[in-house]
Amino acid sequence: MPERTIYLDHAATTALDARVLDAMLPYFTTEYGNASSIYTLGRHAMQAIDSAREQVADILGCRPTEVTFTGCGSESDNLAIKGMAFASQKKGNHLITSPIEHHAVLYTCQYLERFGFRTTYVPVDTYGCINPDDVGRAITDETILVSMMYANNEVGTIEPITEIGRICRTRKIPFQVDAVQAGGSLPLDVSELNADLLSLSAHKFYGPKGVGILYARQGMRLLPQLQGGSQERGKRAGTENVAGIVGAATALHLAYEDMPKVMPHIIALRDRLIAGLLTIPGSLLTGHPTDRLANNASFVFEGVEGESILLNLDLLGIAASTGSACTSGSVDPSHVLLAMHVPVELAHGSLRLTLGKDSTVEDVDTVVAVLPGIIEKLRQLR
Ligand code: PLP
Repeated sequence: MPERTIYLDHAATTALDARVLDAMLPYFTTEYGNASSIYTLGRHAMQAIDSAREQVADILGCRPTEVTFTGCGSESDNLAIKGMAFASQKKGNHLITSPIEHHAVLYTCQYLERFGFRTTYVPVDTYGCINPDDVGRAITDETILVSMMYANNEVGTIEPITEIGRICRTRKIPFQVDAVQAGGSLPLDVSELNADLLSLSAHKFYGPKGVGILYARQGMRLLPQLQGGSQERGKRAGTENVAGIVGAATALHLAYEDMPKVMPHIIALRDRLIAGLLTIPGSLLTGHPTDRLANNASFVFEGVEGESILLNLDLLGIAASTGSACTSGSVDPSHVLLAMHVPVELAHGSLRLTLGKDSTVEDVDTVVAVLPGIIEKLRQLR
């Protein structure tokens, strides 16, 4: 086995930042109180949650009371969409989203269809971009929510969120933004984005796994999806994950503080990786050429299976990802690539490499050196 993993799957998850761990540690050991308890230990826990909420609100440009901590990004999406849908049933039953959303959004909309809701999927172009005017045209008298992702997790395309939000605001339709991939790399000011609801997940920006964040503008009525205690102002029952919440807020704060230093480094590595890998015959960059996440380099390669590329990279200690999913014995190409009209045969050969703040030029050069050989070998095997 290679000595060190070359980790190029930061869109899947990131390592906990050492500074975040330091901030979290006391809440696993000495400060273990339940935030609902009225004695000193409990009040310490509540104070830690309050200041975490303020830290998050500071980055989002919102009031602390508009921030809810959840158990993951998926839960934040579920609470926003189901919470809004079930609370607005009297107003209408129509949801609008896009076909390239994460399954946390797509499957939530499908679930709601069992309860009489219907969904319009606004199409994307070949770069995976949504046209805001298409969103406007999809709105009907029955529309109760528009849910769109800020940046796509597979191909990295950044969506025109501010413009979509402007249209929703003009038409008085609540707008949820799945910002799980954007958190830590794109501006999150909810007023500038015209967002009414916004979802984040801490493990995508060097925070702990198991903590999500939901911004819900004051006045948004959400039906809680977990019944129990009155934590999180009744929006999300369950004893708070104090250490996780402190970690999430610290990580978000540090991500934006570090941004001026980290972003140019990541962008330079991404562009080097893209230039290097596009020299492979039969390769294509997926997603928008310029409006894309700083850390995302995603491709399709003719005549190969993404999973086979991953296994071969893994043997060399390189961690990457493919959009294809293995379901009951067969490999299904990514729903994102298919929605972007990438031909099925090509979509099978997808590879996503996502850089992080600790990625190096050597990491990139190693991939650029080994991948052409892997692709050639796999093509010969077919
Ligand atoms: N939304 C997007 C765009 C994502 O990329 C992900 C995770 O990859 C999620 C939602 C779900 O987040 P979590 O893994 O915290 O449940």
